[in-house]
Parts: sequence; structure tokens; C-alpha cells
Amino acid sequence: MLPKSGRKEEDVLSDLKSFCKDDPDYKEGKLFSLVYYLGEEHSSATQKAYNLYSSLNGLNPSAFKSLKKCETDVINITASLHNGDKNISGVITSGGTESCLLAVKTYRDFARAKKGIRKPEMIIAESAHVAWDKGAEYFGVKIKRAKLDKNYAIDLDHVKKLISRRTIMLLASAPGYPHGVIDPVNKLGKIAEAKNIPLHVDACVGGFLLPFIEKNGADIEPWDWRVSGVTSISADIHKYGYAAKGASTITYRSLDLLKYQMFVKQDWPGGVFASPALLGTRPGGAYSSAWAALQLMGEEGYLKQTQLAMDAANIMKEGIESIDGIEIIGKPKATILAYKSITKKINIFVVGDLLEKKGWHVDRLQHPEALHLMLTSSHKKIANKFINDLRDAVKEAKENPSLAKSGSAATYGMIANLPLQGVVKKQVLKLFSQMYGPDAKMIDMSDDHTP
Ligand SMILES: *Cc1c(COP(=O)(O)O)cnc(C)c1O
Repeated sequence: MLPKSGRKEEDVLSDLKSFCKDDPDYKEGKLFSLVYYLGEEHSSATQKAYNLYSSLNGLNPSAFKSLKKCETDVINITASLHNGDKNISGVITSGGTESCLLAVKTYRDFARAKKGIRKPEMIIAESAHVAWDKGAEYFGVKIKRAKLDKNYAIDLDHVKKLISRRTIMLLASAPGYPHGVIDPVNKLGKIAEAKNIPLHVDACVGGFLLPFIEKNGADIEPWDWRVSGVTSISADIHKYGYAAKGASTITYRSLDLLKYQMFVKQDWPGGVFASPALLGTRPGGAYSSAWAALQLMGEEGYLKQTQLAMDAANIMKEGIESIDGIEIIGKPKATILAYKSITKKINIFVVGDLLEKKGWHVDRLQHPEALHLMLTSSHKKIANKFINDLRDAVKEAKENPSLAKSGSAATYGMIANLPLQGVVKKQVLKLFSQMYGPDAKMIDMSDDHTP
């Protein structure tokens, strides 16, 4: 309920703090997704930068020159990190999903204008982020799904078979979210060029990570503007760029492509309306925080944080490989990885349940069934403890096969193996209806959380 009269600032803030009491404890490294945390000092600095611009609106880029300056700087820095030239053009978006959606829209309209394609298709790997499915659904583009090869990268032979006169874009992930595997962008780029089809690199999670892994001396195959077939790149600043939430980038090889992303309506009664991306009002705070994060970190900051995250990943990788009965999926070269069971005796979802009992937040994957880790520097200090707990959990799962019939392992196992996926969809929609429908509206949060 809206309070009758406005409440005191300290009461409001204290309520907000109390709402967090049951949230996952990301500060202690027990959570392996959703949050990219570098400690209070960095968070507080990006928050202050956010606050400075939180009322500003980037809708009209000529109104707040401050925001356009932030955006231009951020895009230039991103382009140069990705080894681009001065022709790279792009915009800040509200997140990876917006960047992906925009690429689908851009290439659909580009293909319609340049090649007259009316029934567009796009080729994405099974490991592509679900934002691409969302984009395809929103913008009426048919997905042709490419299989993965034995290393869980996109299967290039299959891609070649799927290409048709209707293909509007190819997609590579650098890396993909589920398994952390980088697709062979170089080879995909050659295919794209030979067929004259745009190639987008989804570096939402890798865009502010891979450049520094490479600069730290690791062997990473070129995946960015150095690959001549690449026509656009998405890279999230609110992930490994360590900005406040609400900031990603989409950049194109040239303005000629970016133009197809833009929307202009000249005869709207509200005036001539032009917008470079999906949103109307564009949140100024997200831009200033993104700009500030890049400035606060600098190259040295990113190199250091990347190395610490890689240290965490290496401890995890070695630890997982040293445990009998489980293995890492593919050859993840960055800080995201998945591991699965390689014996019928171990149900990996039971392992997940046992880890949760020990206080870890575990993310589950399906096809194949696996558990997931997204690592930052904050995980270095807990990595050995995690591996010890994982070793115990694997042992316990092996000794107690009946655990697979209980807890969330049973549910996840069932979901992953249901022949009729529509059933799950219905159930999830039902759950969402409960969360967003009239029942949820009855819950008065202020009563719930008064300390
Ligand atoms: C996170 C991610 C996205 C989506 O980004 P959001 O910021 O969550 O909308 C898209 N692609 C990949 C590879 C990602 O990791």
C-alpha cells in the first residue's frame, strides 16, 4: 500500500536493508551466478557514480551531453579492448539481453533491405544464450539450431548444412554461458565471409574478461574484431566489467549496420522521435556507473581481477578433475565452467543438493545434466573449501543412490528427462502467474519485513 504520507528516509532505507536478509550471501563467495562482486570499496564507488546521474535520461542523446560523453567513451574503450578500428560504432544498452535482441532486429531488417529476405532464419548453437531464443521469438526469426561438437563448441559442419538463402546471421559465443566454451570464431568468420552473412559474437560474459586473460598471457584464439568476418559484438559491462547493473554494449563493424538498429518516427504528435536502442527512457545512472567502473579499474585493475578469477577457476578445474566420477564439460578457457557425472553411480543433482546443504548456491544445467560455476576473484578464498565439500558430496551421493528420489534432485531429474517439455512450460507459467498475479498482490511486503 502506498503510505498516506511520505515516510522518513531512514525508515525507508532501513526497510530496504531488511528486505535483503534472506537474499543469497554473494559477498562471501557462496553464490556462483548473478552477481560480480569485487568488495565494498568498488561497489560503493560505482554506486556513487550511479547516484550522480540517476535522474538523468539518455533517451535524447543531444539533451544530456554528459551521458553521450559517457556513452561515447565507453563504446570507444570497448572497441579498442576488442581490437577494433575507429569505424566501430555502437551504443550502451540496458543489458546483455537488450544487446542480443537488438542484433536480431538489426540483422532481420538488414537482410530484408539488402537481400529481400522475408522469412528470416538465424543459426545459433545449442549452447547459445537463451536471450537469442527470446530475440527470435520477439522479432519473428526462425532458429536453426547447430549441434555442439565433442568439445561442446559449435559444430561447424552442421552450421554449413544449416545455411540457406534465408540465413540472416550466424552466432558465436565467446564464451557460451552454460559450459564456458569459446566457439571457433575464426573458422566461423571464414564461413560467414564466404557466404556473405553477418556474424555476431556474443561476448556478453566474456567481453571484459577474455581481453585480459589474453593480456595475462593465456592462449586465446582471436574472437574479436581481428576476425574479419565478425560484424558485431555484445559485451556486458555489468558482468566482468564490474559496473552497476543495467549496462551492456553492442558494437558493429560500421555505422552502416548500426543504422538498421535505429528507430525514427517523424510524425508522432509528441514530436519527431528517434531512438538508437530498445528502451525509451535510458537510465543515466547505468551509464555513469559503467563509465566509472572502467575508469576505477583501469587496465591494471582488470588484469589483476582477471588473474584472481582465473586462479579461482584453476583451483576449481584441478579440484574437479581430481575427483573420481565427475568431469568438466568441454575445455573452458575462462572463468565459467560446468561439470557432470561420468558414472551412473553418481547423480549430479544429488551432489548439487548436498552442496546446498553446506550453504553453497548451486546452479543446475540440463542436456547434459551438470552443475555450473561462474567465478570471480571473490571465489579464490573459498575455492579449496568448495572442492573439499564437493569431494564429500560426490562420495555421499555415490554411497546413497536413493537420494536421487528425493529433494530437488528428483524434481530437476524429472524436468531434465520429461519427454513433453510443454508440461514444464505450463508449470513454470503457473508459478509465474502466482508470483505476478492477484495472489502475489495480496502480500503486503511492509508487514512481512518490518524488523
Ligand atoms: C549474461 C549473458 C547474456 C544475457 O545478458 P543479461 O545481461 O543477463 O541480459 C547473453 N549472452 C551471454 C553469453 C551471457 O552470458
